Amino acid sequence: APTSAVRTFDGDGRTADGVRVELLANVGDPAEAEAAAASGAQGVGLFRTEFAFLDRTEAPTVAEQVAAYGRVLAAFDGRKVVVRTLDAGADKPLPFLHAAPETNPALGVRGLRIAGEHPDVVEDQLTAIAAAAAAHPGTTTWVMAPMVATVEEAEGFVAACARHGLGTAGVMVEVPSAALLAGPVLAHAAFASIGTNDLVQYTMAADRLLGAVARLSDAWQPAVLRLVEATCAGGAAQGRPVGVCGEAAADPALAVVLVGLGVTSLSMTPRALPDVAAVLATTPSDVCRRLARLAVESSCADHARAVVRDALPVLA
Ligand code: PEP
Ligand code: MG
Repeated sequence: APTSAVRTFDGDGRTADGVRVELLANVGDPAEAEAAAASGAQGVGLFRTEFAFLDRTEAPTVAEQVAAYGRVLAAFDGRKVVVRTLDAGADKPLPFLHAAPETNPALGVRGLRIAGEHPDVVEDQLTAIAAAAAAHPGTTTWVMAPMVATVEEAEGFVAACARHGLGTAGVMVEVPSAALLAGPVLAHAAFASIGTNDLVQYTMAADRLLGAVARLSDAWQPAVLRLVEATCAGGAAQGRPVGVCGEAAADPALAVVLVGLGVTSLSMTPRALPDVAAVLATTPSDVCRRLARLAVESSCADHARAVVRDALPVLA
């Protein structure tokens, strides 16, 4: 198998026949952003902002947030950064937001749902993102919300972003309802970014942190791939781009399938970029589409994975 140790990444992502695929980095704080920028990533497809809120007894001030987000935007001057608003709850609990314990935290008040009980937290964050973006005009700053489940949530988030002058507002698709309604959701949102970690969890009803259900927690599950396909169909109907920013994007064979399903950007841990770029560069887009069909029509994850891997000589 190819190893990133011997590969370099020139920042360019395209299929063998030259179809562009944006290859982006997932980052969780300014230091990771600086390392990702040096790796050649074309931008940041997922900037997780939770770091600014962790280990705190109350929310960070707007000024603190402006400084922290500004460092990330500065690292990607001339490139794009997709800032995700706070995704607290479930596997990322915050004491000052989650006073009462929940029986099912993964199904509770997490992600954008925080805005219902703590509108000030999301408003302050949008204020800070807008100020950081204004201070770094060389960076293309997009913003997106996690855990969007309904069209109304998408509409409300996009409107809130617009009030802050954040004109390119999108949604994460990580709840099956959002994938199934991607068309109406993307009538409001400028783009969608599929979070496969949670989309797998909520499609398969399998806790993403529980080893005992790891066989179910697999982005190769054909049911998950069908929801990716549905999201891309919604994106195509509205003329909106659809990316993937979950772990699935870092699996080179799965990246081929995602591109074949219509995904136009892949965001991942920076060390995965060279291998994903190398497999795409040797695979024509019609082959991506053919392998995507085989995977979607498979009856199980193992079959989908095997049939695609066997067809990609670069992975042999
Ligand atoms: C995801 O759910 O796939 C995702 C990218 O978000 P997180 O892992 O931060 O929940
Ligand atoms: Mg998620």
